[in-house]
Amino acid sequence: MSRCRWGGVGVRIGAGLLLAVPVVALAGTRLADIDAVCPLFGHRFTAQGIVREDDVAAFDADFCKRPRGGVSAYVLAVWTCPYCFFSAYQADFRGTLDPRFRDLELRSYPLDAAKVEQVNIFVGTKYLNAETYYRVAGKDARFLADLMLRGSYACRVFQLAEPPEYEGLHDALRAEAEGGRERLSVEELNLSLVDLLRGRLADPALAPERGAVLRYHLAEALRQSGGHREAAAVLEELLRDRGLPDAYRSQAVQRKFLCDKEREFQERALSYFREAEGMIPPSERGLVTYLQAELERRLGRFEEARTLYERAASYPPDPAWLTGMIRKQRDRLPATGPGEQG
Ligand SMILES: [Zn+2]
Repeated sequence: MSRCRWGGVGVRIGAGLLLAVPVVALAGTRLADIDAVCPLFGHRFTAQGIVREDDVAAFDADFCKRPRGGVSAYVLAVWTCPYCFFSAYQADFRGTLDPRFRDLELRSYPLDAAKVEQVNIFVGTKYLNAETYYRVAGKDARFLADLMLRGSYACRVFQLAEPPEYEGLHDALRAEAEGGRERLSVEELNLSLVDLLRGRLADPALAPERGAVLRYHLAEALRQSGGHREAAAVLEELLRDRGLPDAYRSQAVQRKFLCDKEREFQERALSYFREAEGMIPPSERGLVTYLQAELERRLGRFEEARTLYERAASYPPDPAWLTGMIRKQRDRLPATGPGEQG
């Protein structure tokens, strides 16, 4: 990950506190190092905060924002105290929490608290612990649905190291998948990659080790396109395959874990959305129902997704582009019976 330091800036944190801190740019995302204090036990640590997150290249069909480059805001929106694993949005790292919160059942894992950066703390732990805190703090289902949705996005965009030889092949495949087209979104590009790789894998003359490497690339393209369910299935099979080079094995394990977490967060988001039904204002019902349809589709429950796409289409189209979006995504569902459209 390349990074360069440039200048200094005043950053407003929490209740109006203004700090002068050095700013770092991670290839498109503007970040600042901030001296943070854990509100649960007073642990002190340095965290990276988001100064500005307006550098969006595209949205996925479930509204996951993709930055132009570098680290995604979803990874840093929630901070985790590296000592006690208390997790919350950056703005909630202020003051001191009531001691009753010290009984929170927070998930943890071994890390070097003095050295770890927020960008490297596992997003699954961050968002699960944030959910635990906000539930006890009495946040409503709409807030928690949004938190869990961000958790699912964070799993999709979380950056992991790739085996050394990955990038060369990926770049070549990517150029071929783009086929001279411009302005493909991250989701569209990866769907093109999936098609390309499936074609390559159908070649009966493919050598087994090459096949294993291509299936790893297929899994990552599926994961990056939001297809965590299909990606997890490919990875599971790949991990049983002795032909997978060692350099790819631990990477495949981590990616399978992220796929499982993304699924878990989507399930939680859906469950909170159902609970929050009465809280959705009429002007947002089309959009929120469409989003639920997208989650059901991604979770593989196609009939539930179909019903929700149709319900979403029955609301006044707001925003206007929603009508086309609903049709496009509904058409991605597998047909279920004779005569059925889409
Ligand atoms: Zn702490």
